[in-house]
Amino acid sequence: MSEIRRDRLHSQYVLIAPERMRRPDTLASSEMPILKTCPFCEGNEAMTPPEIHAMRDNEANTNHWKVRVVPNLYKAVQIELEEHSKLTGMFESVPGVGAHEIVIDTPSHDSRMADLDSSEIRDWLWTIAARIADLRKDERLIHTSIFKNQGEQAGATQQHPHTQLIALPITPTLELNLLERHMQYYRRHGRSKVEDILENERLAESRILSERGDFTAYCPYASAYPFEVIIAPRRALTNLDELNRDDLLNLAELMEEIFSRLDIQLGNFDFNMAFRLAPLNSNFENAPFFPHLKDFFRFTIRIMPRIYRLGGFELSTGMLINPVEPEEAAKLLREVKLR
Ligand SMILES: [Zn+2]
Repeated sequence: MSEIRRDRLHSQYVLIAPERMRRPDTLASSEMPILKTCPFCEGNEAMTPPEIHAMRDNEANTNHWKVRVVPNLYKAVQIELEEHSKLTGMFESVPGVGAHEIVIDTPSHDSRMADLDSSEIRDWLWTIAARIADLRKDERLIHTSIFKNQGEQAGATQQHPHTQLIALPITPTLELNLLERHMQYYRRHGRSKVEDILENERLAESRILSERGDFTAYCPYASAYPFEVIIAPRRALTNLDELNRDDLLNLAELMEEIFSRLDIQLGNFDFNMAFRLAPLNSNFENAPFFPHLKDFFRFTIRIMPRIYRLGGFELSTGMLINPVEPEEAAKLLREVKLR
């Protein structure tokens, strides 16, 4: 059973999750179990816990699926708990209520993101959007963290392409600070910060990579990672379950193009990808700005290629050193001849 504890010294939350200890990557690498059969591969559906959701024509837990969602075996939070917080002296905790799901992006074990075509990416996005719409119905769930790690440098422990989805009953401190800043910006300027960043990037031109429908991809002005790419909507969209069919297709086509460009320029590269999404529901933390999300917030997708290892400076300061100018990265990515 996991628990979310308040760290009063650093003013942030910590997730105490003993279940995570059993994960393959918590062992020293020499002890890493070599799994002969991949539980995420087509035909091995019985090796995962019963599926939560799938895109397929057949009946549940059988093969011939396109995208499949299962509970994480080493979950950091669980949905079944009763919610009541505990206070012992100055120590405060809430039960680790929430969802921890694995989206199996494709039945194909060896596909990398750059190998997926736009219809496969659309199915993947559609599945994530369907999960968000479903989790939103549980009013206890507030913040969703959706991320994908590909390759060893990015910390992936399972080669089969997959995406993790965690929904939490609280807002991480960093995220809450960002929401507050974006709201302040809106109060001062009457526009959302993402809208203004996009407008300025489009004026500057030098870091824009491509646009499809209402979505723009660019290398951000202050890229923290070499060849970092942000994808953002030019319309007021705060979460993936607000996207219509055309949006999903346009976004999928843009992602296909960006991953092809990165793949041709960088070769087989490791990366982390994170979705920044609006809160699912209102709670005591976000009540002041939840009704204004449509005005000040827009979802973004951040692609962080991991082509250099982080060193001591990065770990001690939290400030990243990026050896590649974003203007140069954008130029190289634009020059790529698409296959
Ligand atoms: Zn597999």
